[in-house]
Amino acid sequence: MKSLQTLLTQLEKSQWDSAHTLQDLQLERFARLTSHAWRHSPFFRLRLEQAGFTLGQAWTAEAFARIPLLTRSELMLQEAHIRCHAIPPEHGQTYRMQTSGSTGQVVSLLRTDCTQLHWLALAMREHQWHRRDFSATLAIIKATTPTMDDPIRAAQTGWGPPVSLFQQTGPSFSQPLSMPVAQQAVWLARIDPKYLLTYPTNLSALLDAYERGEAAAPVALRQVRTVGETLHPGLRERCKALGDIGIVDMYSSQELGLIALQCPESGLYHTQDENLIVEILDEQGQPCAEGAVGRVVITDLHNYATPLIRYEIRDYAERGPACSCGRGLGSLKRIMGRRRNMVTLPDGSKHWPLVGAHRYREVADIRQYQVIQHGLDDIELRLLVTPLTPGQEAAIATLAHQALGHPFKLRFSYFDRELPNTGNGKFEEFISLLA
Ligand SMILES: [Zn+2]
Repeated sequence: MKSLQTLLTQLEKSQWDSAHTLQDLQLERFARLTSHAWRHSPFFRLRLEQAGFTLGQAWTAEAFARIPLLTRSELMLQEAHIRCHAIPPEHGQTYRMQTSGSTGQVVSLLRTDCTQLHWLALAMREHQWHRRDFSATLAIIKATTPTMDDPIRAAQTGWGPPVSLFQQTGPSFSQPLSMPVAQQAVWLARIDPKYLLTYPTNLSALLDAYERGEAAAPVALRQVRTVGETLHPGLRERCKALGDIGIVDMYSSQELGLIALQCPESGLYHTQDENLIVEILDEQGQPCAEGAVGRVVITDLHNYATPLIRYEIRDYAERGPACSCGRGLGSLKRIMGRRRNMVTLPDGSKHWPLVGAHRYREVADIRQYQVIQHGLDDIELRLLVTPLTPGQEAAIATLAHQALGHPFKLRFSYFDRELPNTGNGKFEEFISLLA
């Protein structure tokens, strides 16, 4: 297996290759993957043969596009047939991992030392793009992170892989997401990190506390790295207003690792084309043009244990333009979220609601909100607040109707404790039960 340094050197160079050269590289890697999958995966042997595959064939973009999409339910129910009986020794050990789906749909698959190596290299690429100061303090607040609050241990552990594989780093402190936001704020002020890694909704709750004057933002904080949930644009403005704090977002999934990373020059999300083929498809299955929003479909070029070929990850994204930075890597302009984050109008059409509706707080001290669509004209507003007056409800309804793009019938539900997450610590502001 290649060393991490070798892979990084290759990635430093290939990011500047033309889009055309990168596509050739992808198809060459895809040919190797399909030869392997045809031999060792009963599921893909059948699927590739149905798509007209013959062993040793060269792939074109047209032939690739004829392979049916792999759905999440196929992966969930048929992983034992998708999984390969043998993997090449240079791919190393395999590891079983499970994704905790939001509706109890657990996907389980194998990843390998080789996919892990690519994850490390791409994570390092992300640090290099954003020229991080590795001597600085890092704070992490994520769902499953254990508490790391002892300065000596935080210094010994450092930032962890990949950075600590290359050099000494500053300390890295962490807390689980279950820590109440008020305590998080106190903790962050004390350890005063330059970088904070967390989820967008948790960041939003911290910003609420700072904006209300309930806590002071860490003095040293310069950048928040967001993962795991859809980042809504309002958060960038709020961070900037707080003290010129930047946000760098990462688009990743447990099945596939790092999918797209923000360009340091343009802010577009660059797809990690050396490792994945990322397609954005319209409802007819055709590639979306620049500026159009479509389904994200991904092929993992290096997972030889549970091949993911044209896997429909169920997110939606907007295809971006060629980037001004000069890299040949493809781009996404926005990651929209899941299909169930789209609102359905009474005429059956679907669109993306404007979430991140910070303006609700102008009406009342709403600590958290969530909008659930139960029917075509039945929308529930869940609010973490003491019950509102009829006048306040009317004001919120006006804002909700603007955000949803239709004067839906609304009902209010009041909560006095935190609204429930939808799994794995993630929170979705709008969920349609019709999707
Ligand atoms: Zn760029």
